[in-house]
Amino acid sequence: MKQKDKIKQRLKSYLEKNDFDVFDLKSVIFDMDGVLYDSMPAHDKSWRETFDELNLEHQPYEFFLQEGRLGKSTINEIFQRNLQRDSTDEEEINIYARKSELFKQYNKGEILPGAKEALNFVKDKGLIPVLVTGSGQPSLLDKLSYHFPGIFTPETMVTAFNVTNGKPHPEPFILGLKKGGNLLPNQAIVIENAPLGIKAAVDAGIFTIAVNTGPLDDDVLIDAGASIVFHSVNELNENFPLILDIINEINHHS
Ligand code: MG
Repeated sequence: MKQKDKIKQRLKSYLEKNDFDVFDLKSVIFDMDGVLYDSMPAHDKSWRETFDELNLEHQPYEFFLQEGRLGKSTINEIFQRNLQRDSTDEEEINIYARKSELFKQYNKGEILPGAKEALNFVKDKGLIPVLVTGSGQPSLLDKLSYHFPGIFTPETMVTAFNVTNGKPHPEPFILGLKKGGNLLPNQAIVIENAPLGIKAAVDAGIFTIAVNTGPLDDDVLIDAGASIVFHSVNELNENFPLILDIINEINHHS
């Protein structure tokens, strides 16, 4: 099937499934790690080393599969599996602090190729870029303002500090819709790289595009509910104008 037909079919089947006649696009919601920043290898390495230091076992690709969860939730999973009990608040604070310390050491802070262009494209089209991340780094806004000046404000960001339930719960994306201007799900599109983030966005009722920037198979992202999978942010950028054109086409024919 031609790329255009494929995208059209995915957009139409989203509308049908979610009981919308049209898209009324106002916002594009971006995940952060693995979509804007090339930070996942450093997250993975620092999580693995943190648990190795504690002699707690983890599984291959675990931290790519768990990506998007709040830190305390990832820690609790590993505790349940290794020790058959919940982690305490104190353990969660200490372990997350160690992981953050290692992350600072390993993370080069590099943005993914195409991230800047994607955000600027969205803004130039008059759409509101919103950030939805499970990250809880205190200096997040400074970092984002430095790399992507003029794109995000505290009013258009959802972080670990704003939610009770992290991804895969839909709460972060429901709040993202609110921050985009009290939007309905058909007024936004989500760009995600991780299975749990995709699940959260799809459960919030939003059309979700995956950019597979990590080591997982595309199938994992499709099974999580992604409507389209691209393999880089640049590939998303190449298709972004086409996607907006098709949305217009669908809207005018309904
Ligand atoms: Mg991510």
